[in-house]
Amino acid sequence: MDYQSTRSKLKTDSVHAVLQGLAPDGGLFADPSIEKITFDWRACLKKDTQSMAVMILQALLPDFKDMESLVSQAYKGKFETEDLTPVVKVGNYHILELFRGPTSAFKDVALSMLPRLVTAARTQTGMKQEITILTATSGDTGKAALEGFKDVPGTRIIVFFPDSGVSEVQQMQMTTQEGSNVCVCAVKGNFDDCQRGVKQAFSELRETLKDSPYTLSSANSINIGRLAPQVVYYFAAYRDMIADGTIKEGEAVDYCVPTGNFGDILAGYYAKLMGLPVGKLICASNANNVLTDFINTGKYDRKRPFYKTDSPSMDILVSSNLERLLFLASGRNEEQVSKWMASLNENGEFTVDEKTLSYIRESFEAGHCDQEETEKAIFRCWKENHYLIDPHTAVAYSVAEKRDNTNPVVVLSTASPYKFPQAVLRALGESEEGNGFDLMKRLNDVSGVQIPKNLSTLEGKKIRFNESIDRDEIVSYVLNKLNCR
Ligand SMILES: *Cc1c(COP(=O)(O)O)cnc(C)c1O
Repeated sequence: MDYQSTRSKLKTDSVHAVLQGLAPDGGLFADPSIEKITFDWRACLKKDTQSMAVMILQALLPDFKDMESLVSQAYKGKFETEDLTPVVKVGNYHILELFRGPTSAFKDVALSMLPRLVTAARTQTGMKQEITILTATSGDTGKAALEGFKDVPGTRIIVFFPDSGVSEVQQMQMTTQEGSNVCVCAVKGNFDDCQRGVKQAFSELRETLKDSPYTLSSANSINIGRLAPQVVYYFAAYRDMIADGTIKEGEAVDYCVPTGNFGDILAGYYAKLMGLPVGKLICASNANNVLTDFINTGKYDRKRPFYKTDSPSMDILVSSNLERLLFLASGRNEEQVSKWMASLNENGEFTVDEKTLSYIRESFEAGHCDQEETEKAIFRCWKENHYLIDPHTAVAYSVAEKRDNTNPVVVLSTASPYKFPQAVLRALGESEEGNGFDLMKRLNDVSGVQIPKNLSTLEGKKIRFNESIDRDEIVSYVLNKLNCR
């Protein structure tokens, strides 16, 4: 099966797509005929989560050998629960807990897998170059990627995060990262600045590094190897809802997804294209509601105020993975996608035609909620159900509550509340005084919910990284790091 760039006719196989991360023309690798792949979704629903992962990843990334052993290396013993991503009934909703992995965010599901794929791809292609993984993070990807790639032979990882744009706990998680091949750097700017810098490094350094012993790749969801493992939990949730009697096989389920870079929700769309009976995919945004406006009007306009919210992983105005949806929705029209992306780059906006918009709206719906609504949702969910949610999950919860639901709704829960204890305590009406560890302990006192071990053990760890650079220094920073070895 061939992957194609969303911006040209350039094609490659799944192994090379994973190795490259971003296509050389700046586009994203996408499967132009994903709905045609042979995939027995009913058989898939009979399996346990790891076997599901094997089946789905074999279908989406068919050029990898021995997926079974890659999946087992990625997940065995790494998550708090045996089935990786459990579903819990909370009031009228089903909450899909995606935060039971090694860094307490949903990114762990994909970033436990990606290093296995990258290593396998190096072996299969006989690649000699060392891969440097460049990662822009809005808070959670960074840590999950560092943990996934630490001390993986043949790889090195550099993470850029927005200075004062992540929670204290998130920052601690990253700056204390252990491992001999890791590097973390703050950028004076927001996530979009980090992401732009990383994309710039890819395009500007490609030539420079051509005959060097180094090459670059990405751990962001622009890499198809990041996206594919996320398809699995849509199937797993559906299977669990059949098992608990909520639905019968074939009945539609809606999924409400707290969205930033559009990777998580796009994986849900891939699940639908592979046959899973998905009703609507509800795109939930915080105050940075550029996607809500786009899905409701067809106009994408990033020229708007940028808000720093309590759900920082969704503080994004340029949603990279939307490009993959546009590619499918426009009828695989790479020329058209290329024009829209150029317009976004040059004018800060683009508008899609009616046909593309109605294709998107057949499967997607969008809503948003502001800071006050987010806090109220955390409070209500705790008071009514005695279930603690983080601010990202709360955005989706609130959007689901505001809607007329006919199908059963799965709310994707993307982070542990202990990654954002200050915001959660404020929402519960408790004091938010003290450092991150005081706050975690207070939240534990108030709720009785256990603190994940990877977070409670952060206290006392040594800070290893404290550099901060300007946003236009990312490219030279990367070059420096590569040269100084
Ligand atoms: C990354 C992240 C999101 C957004 O996911 P996308 O794939 O970027 O849309 C939502 N919640 C949390 C906690 C995250 O870390």
